[in-house]
Amino acid sequence: MDLPVVTIIGRPNVGKSTLFNRIIRKPLAITDDRPGVTRDRNAHEFEWNGRSFLLVDTGGYVISSKDFMEQAVSEQSRLALEDSDVVLFIADVKTGITDLDSDIAKLILKSGKPVVLGIAKVDNNRTESEIYGFYNLGLGEPMPISGKTGRGSGDLLDCIVELLPTEEEFERDEEDTAVRIALIGRPNVGKSSIVNSITGTNTVLVTDIAGTTRDAIDTRVTVSGQEIVLIDTAGLKRATKLKESLEYYSSLRTLRTLDRCDVAIIVIDIDDGLTSYEKRLISDVESAGKGLVLAANKWDLIEKDTNTLKKYQTEIFDEIPDKAVYPVVFISAKHGQRVKKLIDKALEVNEVRNNRVQTSALNRFVEDLPRPPGSGDIIIYYATQYDVAPPSFAFIVNDDRRVKENFIRFVEGRLRSKFNIMGTPVNISFKRRTRKSDEETK
Ligand code: GDP
Ligand code: GDP
Repeated sequence: MDLPVVTIIGRPNVGKSTLFNRIIRKPLAITDDRPGVTRDRNAHEFEWNGRSFLLVDTGGYVISSKDFMEQAVSEQSRLALEDSDVVLFIADVKTGITDLDSDIAKLILKSGKPVVLGIAKVDNNRTESEIYGFYNLGLGEPMPISGKTGRGSGDLLDCIVELLPTEEEFERDEEDTAVRIALIGRPNVGKSSIVNSITGTNTVLVTDIAGTTRDAIDTRVTVSGQEIVLIDTAGLKRATKLKESLEYYSSLRTLRTLDRCDVAIIVIDIDDGLTSYEKRLISDVESAGKGLVLAANKWDLIEKDTNTLKKYQTEIFDEIPDKAVYPVVFISAKHGQRVKKLIDKALEVNEVRNNRVQTSALNRFVEDLPRPPGSGDIIIYYATQYDVAPPSFAFIVNDDRRVKENFIRFVEGRLRSKFNIMGTPVNISFKRRTRKSDEETK
């Protein structure tokens, strides 16, 4: 589920991390230990008064030169603001308002984002009267807090939760049957061009439903009678010296986009091929359990002879860990070439993702399954598909400890080819037969 984002912004040393850790009650919060995503920063799912949100601490900047530090903090705040639903701005009661505080306050006001102003290090009543000076920031009522003692954090969270977008604004409408297709990939590979190419053709009906905050960047269209929502992840293209920050916020945005889509299209520039960046995206899509189609764009720029397509196909497939599982469509967004086919593929993948294999067919599959060498003493009694999107299967066996990785992969391969499961990750688990597992499937 996609969550609203609350970002903690402020100068270094004002007490952001201390507060963050106090709120989440952990010495260190790591949600994802992949380098680049949370190395200097923390993002933590948090619930207060029955509302969940993602709390992001932007701290972690230690830069020696003061001049560059100020620029970095402003730039960092600007990036963070773009994807925040609510901002928690922290200032320090011990220093009062500094120039940098005023600069950040201006950025926040300009962004129009709802903001809560926390004045940190108010450990006792003695300093409490000093918070009134912070009204001058123009961000409303300053709230006294202390990350050290925990003072004020409940009130602070109450205020934050009040400012969150309502659940209706945020959550996916259950009755909305539109298929959500996200376009992800590096800048300039042609994501927006694909959206434009789709909305530009007159066989497509663009139904611009003004809706939630989120949908503002979404395009709702009807293709081949199916309503779809195209989610373009464009943006965050600004020039910045903070390469890491940019990468961090880009990947956070991508992960959030993945959360709310059914199928992701990873767009690549055919000239660059599939790089380590796209490979990481593939694994992001897989961990999110979403459908995946690859679009090799700018096909028009390639000089072609009879072997060209094959050559590029081989090049791309060689880079994909499990070949042929994900469809690749060679397109030219510029000329609208095969863009319709790309969308049709994504819709096909979505259908596969939601398909349910009948239990009888699954059990015939189990009966017919040949045994690879070394798997002799594993007995599969039966199998069930217990979920869709992604398709999830449980195999009930005599002894799950004997099931090794290569056997799982073997079964997955067979399952995929037997039931044409492509373009989506699958979950396969092996469970030891118990009375309970027998009863559950009756
Ligand atoms: P950040 O750079 O904004 O994340 O700030 P930190 O959380 O790392 O805190 C900077 C310094 O302020 C550290 O030395 C903390 O011990 C101190 N500090 C943080 N919160 C409080 C607080 O509530 N009261 C007091 N007295 N000191 C604090
Ligand atoms: P995004 O950043 O991924 O959204 O990329 P854009 O859609 O903004 O495209 C980046 C640049 O690539 C623009 O100059 C486009 O005109 C160009 N471009 C996009 N698709 C194609 C294509 O199929 N062929 C060619 N030749 N150029 C393309």
